[in-house]
Amino acid sequence: MPSRISSLPRMLCLLAIGSAAAFAAMKAGVATVKITPQELPYFLSGYAARTKPAETVAQDLHAKALALEDASGKRTVLVTIDLIGIPRDLRDDVAADLRKSHGLDSQALLLNCSHTHSGPAIRENLEIMFAFNDEHKEKTHRYRQFLRQSLASVAGEALDGLQPASVSYGVGEADFAANRRVPWVRQAHPELNAPAPVDHSVPILDVRNAEGKRIAVLFGYSCHNTTLTGEFLEISGDYAGHAQAAIEKAYPGATAMFLELCGGDQNPNPRSQKELAAQHGESLAEAVRAALAKPLTPVDGKIRASLVTHRVPLQPRGKADIEAERSHKDVFHRRRAEWVLARMAKGEDVSAVNYPAQAIRIGDDFVLVTMGGEVVVDYGLNIKRSLPGKRVIVAGYSNDVMCYIPTLRILREGGYEADDSMIYYGQTGPFTEGVEEQVMGTVNAALKNVGLPQ
Ligand SMILES: [Zn+2]
Repeated sequence: MPSRISSLPRMLCLLAIGSAAAFAAMKAGVATVKITPQELPYFLSGYAARTKPAETVAQDLHAKALALEDASGKRTVLVTIDLIGIPRDLRDDVAADLRKSHGLDSQALLLNCSHTHSGPAIRENLEIMFAFNDEHKEKTHRYRQFLRQSLASVAGEALDGLQPASVSYGVGEADFAANRRVPWVRQAHPELNAPAPVDHSVPILDVRNAEGKRIAVLFGYSCHNTTLTGEFLEISGDYAGHAQAAIEKAYPGATAMFLELCGGDQNPNPRSQKELAAQHGESLAEAVRAALAKPLTPVDGKIRASLVTHRVPLQPRGKADIEAERSHKDVFHRRRAEWVLARMAKGEDVSAVNYPAQAIRIGDDFVLVTMGGEVVVDYGLNIKRSLPGKRVIVAGYSNDVMCYIPTLRILREGGYEADDSMIYYGQTGPFTEGVEEQVMGTVNAALKNVGLPQ
């Protein structure tokens, strides 16, 4: 029985071979591809008030991939993308390409979007914001094709480059995220004494090759990537782009990858000045540097991944009511009505949202939980609390960005994240009061499939 063996010599032995054992067990591969639109002028996505496309590039946009493989050959690929969001069908196309080219299990692929509002408009994502002419439509169609190829190739390149590596986890802190709903809720509902949750933690994964050289740093933050507001008409990765550039400068040869976490109701504060995007990026890079300077925890062991998709219902709305919205005084309502009716004509069930949640577990103690949509901060805080003793990263904006994901509290408070934003996303209306239970049911199903909680 192993328990009869004295633990002391065994522990000493493990200490002696600790780093070598980690290198023997894990492999990692990293790749980067530029995804800046080449056909300028091009419409930027994120602010309905913008009426003109961007003509200049302030900062290039990238997709970056980190492939990981365990000792048994089980793999996962994490792709971070400097874009506002992607539709599920694009994710499924890329997953199918990778299954074909590299035999990658589709459930083990993560596509996370930084939610920059200074990146290109994406087909089937917030399309209601735009009055595209045929030329713009063609451009966005070509960009979608380019994106599919780029995402599949960057993930494939990371898989092709797998090499012995070590991965470790740490956490830093940055304090520029502010709960953006609070002023509105306190004015609209003073009786509620609205709470103002934030999550200032900056979780990181440090990836090094067998020589100990840092090859990638993955880091996340729960905050809208919206320092740059609608009046800015230049392509940029916003604070997340600046943070990645600053980290890559600090650690030459390392690829910095930004994960947007649960920033649905969080904004950078202050904002609306170009210099502030660089300043927030520097704050975040400093948080990463501070985390890397502290002792880190090894992430090693079996890789398990599960992606679960459930239907989460919206409040019922009849077809006649949607048809009546076609003559609404507001153009975005009118476009939403046309959009929904077109989906219905194609036979789509518009009464619910296809909701994806994913769990990527490495070893016993580490899990990356990913969720579709613009996930509000409460989900990240609650999920981390529900897994005590584990090292948990919770990322929204993953695999599909189809609308905001409010909690029951936020749904009941109302406002942009609960209600108005559904117009721009082409959803028929708000979720039902079952939203939080249904979303958490999806997350818990993914966690269960990877053996959590234990
Ligand atoms: Zn948003």
